[in-house]
Amino acid sequence: MKNLSIYIHIPFCVRKCLYCDFLSAPADERKIENYVNLLLREIKEQSIFYGDHKVVSIFLGGGTPSLLPAEETGRILGRIRENYLVEADAEITIECNPGTVTAEKLKNYITYGINRLSIGLQSTEDEELARIGRIHSYGDFLKTYTMAREAGFRNINIDLMSGLPGQDLNSYRRTLERVAALSPEHISAYSLILEEGTPLYVNQSSYIFPTEDEDREMYALTGKYLAEAGYRRYEISNYARDGFACRHNQVYWRRGDYAGFGLGASSMVENVRWKNPEGHAAYAAYVEDVAAGAEEVTPLTVREQMEEFMFLGLRLTEGVDMGEFQRLFGKSMEEVYGKTILEFEAQGLLVRAGERLALTPRGIDVSNVIFAEFLI
Ligand code: SF4
Repeated sequence: MKNLSIYIHIPFCVRKCLYCDFLSAPADERKIENYVNLLLREIKEQSIFYGDHKVVSIFLGGGTPSLLPAEETGRILGRIRENYLVEADAEITIECNPGTVTAEKLKNYITYGINRLSIGLQSTEDEELARIGRIHSYGDFLKTYTMAREAGFRNINIDLMSGLPGQDLNSYRRTLERVAALSPEHISAYSLILEEGTPLYVNQSSYIFPTEDEDREMYALTGKYLAEAGYRRYEISNYARDGFACRHNQVYWRRGDYAGFGLGASSMVENVRWKNPEGHAAYAAYVEDVAAGAEEVTPLTVREQMEEFMFLGLRLTEGVDMGEFQRLFGKSMEEVYGKTILEFEAQGLLVRAGERLALTPRGIDVSNVIFAEFLI
C-alpha cells in the first residue's frame, strides 16, 4: 500500500491578523456547520481514489481549526477513519490559536486521536502581538500551553515570527528564551513577509520594521540559540527535538502523496497536482462535481517534477539524494543541473556528502536565489 497524508483546511478565524493573506475569514456558527458538511462530503466522495493508500498523517490547518466546536473536529476525523485506512500510529496535528480552546476541548482532541498540537504564538511580547493584530496575549498562550500539557499532549509545536514591527534583537531573544524554556518538542520560526494588500502592507509607513541586517541577525540567532537549547534544524525554518520532526510537512518537501480537502486545499498524488476552489460557492459546486466524478486535474511534466524535487528537497537540511533523482528520472542530477551545482559548490553555498547534496549554512541564507536557479 502507498502512503497518503491528508490535509484539511478550516478557513475560519476570530478575526484577520494584520499581516495575513491566508484563506481565512471570520464566520458564524451556521456558516461553519455548512462548511463542515461540505467537507465531510468531499472526504467521503474522494475516498474511492485512495483504496490502495494508507494514511500516515493528517493535518488540520487553517485558518484556526481550533475554532471549530470539538464535536465538528470529531466528525471530520471520524469521517476520515470511516473511509480511509488510517495507520494506528499516524501523526494527527491540529493548529490552534491561544484563547480558542478549553481544557475540555483539548481532552476531546486526545480522545479523537489527535497527537500533535501546533500553537500559533509568534511572539512573547504583548506589544508586538497587538501590533500585528493577533487575538491573544502571551498570558493567553501560557494558559493554552499548560492546558495542552495537562490534557496529555506530548508533541507540541510553537510558531514564532521574526521581522515584526517594533521587534528588535533583544525582544526576539526574549521570545526565544521563554519559548525554549517551555521545552516544546518542535519550533517553527518564520520571517514576516509583507504580503501585498494586507493592512500591514498598506500601512507599512506607519510602522518601524527591523532593518534587513537586524532581520538576518534574528535569523542567525534562531539557529544558534535553538541548537544550544537542544533543537535540531531539519528544514530552513523548522527545529525539533530528536524524533519530533513534523512527519506531515516532510511529506510536502519529499514530494510524497497528499490529499487536501476543503476550501483552496492543494493535493499532489502520483505527480498530479490540483487545488480546490477558493470561493465558498465555487467550492460547494466543486464538491458536487467530485460527487459526479467530474474533477479536473493536471499531471506535472517531468521537468516540473525535477524542479520540485530540487527546490523542495533542498529545504531539508539533509538535502536531496542524487541516486534517487537518477532512479526517478532516468538521468543523473549532474546531467540536468551540473553547471548550476558546480557554481554553487564553488561559492560554498551547496555541499555534497556521498550521494546527498545540501545547502550550506550560507546557502540557507540565500536559499531563494538558489531555488530559482533550479528552475530549468
Ligand atoms: S490566525 Fe493565522 S490564518 Fe487566522 S488570520 Fe491570523 S495569521 Fe491568518
